[in-house]
Formats: sequence, C-alpha cells, structure tokens
Amino acid sequence: MNLIGDFHIHTIASGDAFGTIREIVNVAKKKKLKCISITEHGPKMEASAHYYYFESLIDNVKEDSGLIIYSGVEANIIDDKGTLDLPDSILEKLEFIIVSFHDFSWEDKGIIKNTKALKSALLKYNVKCIAHLNHPLYPIHIQEIIPILIDRNITIEINNKSLKKEKNNWLNFKDIILKCRNKGVKFLVNSDAHYPLQVGEFRTALEFANYAGLKEDDIINTHFDRLIEYFNLRKNC
Ligand SMILES: [Zn+2]
Ligand SMILES: [Zn+2]
Repeated sequence: MNLIGDFHIHTIASGDAFGTIREIVNVAKKKKLKCISITEHGPKMEASAHYYYFESLIDNVKEDSGLIIYSGVEANIIDDKGTLDLPDSILEKLEFIIVSFHDFSWEDKGIIKNTKALKSALLKYNVKCIAHLNHPLYPIHIQEIIPILIDRNITIEINNKSLKKEKNNWLNFKDIILKCRNKGVKFLVNSDAHYPLQVGEFRTALEFANYAGLKEDDIINTHFDRLIEYFNLRKNC
C-alpha cells in the first residue's frame, strides 16, 4: 500500500521530540511523500509549544521544496465538556486538528465519561482525526462515536508508534476498527514521528491494517482525490 502523506508529526517544539521542520521535510521528500502535517502537542503538555507557536506556524509554514505542509495540532481533551487546550481563534485557523487523550491532561474517568468528553470535542470543534485509540488506558463506547465520525467525515488513526508499543491491545483495537469500517468510517495511517527519521515510517501500522483486514479503499492517505475530499486540502497537494 503506497501512502502519500503523513499527518501526525512532532518537531522539537513539542518538547518530547527532536527534529526541526527542515529535517522533517528532507526525510519526507526522500520517502516521496507529497504532503505532511505538523501536529505539536497542545499547550496542556507542559513542555510543548505556547499558543503563539501555532499562530506563527499558520502564518509561516505552508510549503518547503515542493512538499505541502499543513498546520495542525494534536490537541488534548482536558475536561468532561470536551474542551481542547488551544483558544477557539487558533483552532479555527489550523488546517488539521487531531484529538487525543494523554495522561498529562486526562486521567481515565471510565468508559462513560471518556466517551462523553470525546463526543463533545468532536461536536464542538472541526476535528479531522482521533489519534491512537488503540491505547488501552482510555476505553470508549465506539458505537456512540461512529454516527459523529460518519456525519463529520472524521477518521480514526492507525498510529504506527502507538501500535508498536501496544502490541497486546491489537485484538481490542481490531474490534473497534471493524465496527467503524462496517459503518463506512475511514482511516488515516500516520507515523506519530518524534524524530525526523520516523517520518513516513508506517511499517507497523500497515502490518496492523493487514491484520485487521483493512483495504486500500478504507485508508484516506493512499490517494490525492481522497485527501482533497477529506479535508478540503489545498488543491496543490
Ligand atoms: Zn499522542
Ligand atoms: Zn503525537
């Protein structure tokens, strides 16, 4: 399966990652990617970027050496109302919002509250993707989420880094994936790179996709036209 974009990448600005955008671009070009998204952690993670960074990313970084760069964030859900950790004025301008639960911003509150918070975030913001739902720490009722995913064209992420770490939870995640796929939800394969050489590294994610029986048609970042339709990408991607 050929993937043309990687939409979950951290730079040194995230505080837990080690590359610059230039270094990331070099690797992405070598791996023949056509577009990427820079998605630092939201400011709730202590070492991550201030919201000024996100404003500046939007203004200054759009393309490098022919590679299209989308300004994004891996935003943290921080309360039961699904609030994300950036001001609305910035979230409205970012081109790609991923949401996730992390231990620094969300203590597992049980499946009912986790689901309610995620649902609220999806309904409140222009979220495009839910990150690493394969993580066993934050269970949710996927059946309650699926209608929102379909209605708003939101994808579930197949996260290379997290799937590598959480091999014991593949079976549970396969169950979630199949429930979604059977209703027509689409998926995005991402590296979640924290080091430049990890950009475009999809091996474990593709192994999982194969294990779960996903086909090329289920995965958005296999074709330009799917990507364009998915998040109204700039047409030159
Ligand atoms: Zn994450
Ligand atoms: Zn991440």
